[in-house]
Amino acid sequence: MARANPAFMIAGQSVPAGGRCTVGLPLPSLYTNDPVSMPVYVLHGRHEGPVVFVSAAVHGDEINGVEVIRRLLRMPQIRRLRGTLLAVPIVNVFGFHNRSRYLPDRRDLNRSFPGSESGSMAARLGHVFMSEIVERADLGIDLHTAAIHRDNLPQVRADINDPILEPLARAFGAPVLLHSAPPSGSLRYAAAEIGVPVMVYEAGEALRFEELSIQIGLRGVLNVLRQLSMLPPSRRRLSRPSAVLRSSSWQRAPQSGILRAQTRLGALVNKGETLGVVADPTGESEIPLAAPYDGVVIGRTNLPLVFEGEALFHVGRTRQTTLLEQHLGALQDGTNIAPPELIEEPPIV
Ligand SMILES: [Zn+2]
Repeated sequence: MARANPAFMIAGQSVPAGGRCTVGLPLPSLYTNDPVSMPVYVLHGRHEGPVVFVSAAVHGDEINGVEVIRRLLRMPQIRRLRGTLLAVPIVNVFGFHNRSRYLPDRRDLNRSFPGSESGSMAARLGHVFMSEIVERADLGIDLHTAAIHRDNLPQVRADINDPILEPLARAFGAPVLLHSAPPSGSLRYAAAEIGVPVMVYEAGEALRFEELSIQIGLRGVLNVLRQLSMLPPSRRRLSRPSAVLRSSSWQRAPQSGILRAQTRLGALVNKGETLGVVADPTGESEIPLAAPYDGVVIGRTNLPLVFEGEALFHVGRTRQTTLLEQHLGALQDGTNIAPPELIEEPPIV
């Protein structure tokens, strides 16, 4: 029988077993002297279990994950949680207010972890998140979207050589599981350094709600909590297994100009196939961009105006076409995804 849970302490507050509360982690104030805090919703189950954080808007303009967390906290089954959930819907509060990826000091928070108490503004925010959230967690799920004017196919990124993380990243059940090393300074990197595995969910584009990305994200977080026995198992059919991609690369603009994309997100491509054409405004000097290998387009730009060197198509290497076709077909006809209880509102089109 599971043991009763001792109280959970955070930011000087004590959350009893079976309790939920919102705490605000103090951040640097605005220059108008108005206080700023990072909201953390703590759900502390009656019985002991893992501590998991789910975070969003580390990049302040990536808001799909904010909606994933809102829906997660309203799920009826979450009341039966075992262990502790730390839900942080808006990590980069300053960027969120400014509808910006960055902090007011123009730093990227996701390159500023683990941060420090006396460092830059970004470093201080990173330090608050590391010391109050990451250091007391057993696992993290960090929710992102593509950067502005880009779109990502719903995908989980994780180090699948990590024996703890690998089954959990698979359990998420995103169409694509991309094995990747975290960039230095990212939350995922800094957490791994102190032994806390973190997976990143990437889906959709910045400053937009994308309904399928939200549904897949919500279902994925619930799947991971079930895999950890923090929630009872689902009686419904489990998600399809993810297509596992071991590598990927960005295809960059060979020259500045205007891009005519010929490949949609999620397209399966063969090596050498044309992804798009970059030309100057008069249509002279066209340069096609070719797929580097057989794979799937997991990210792309939506903006046709490109500078030389800009990342245009993110291609994941794979030959798991049957599995991907099932996922992508379901994505396109809208039958995928979510059991009805996850579809709280009609898709915004
Ligand atoms: Zn991001």
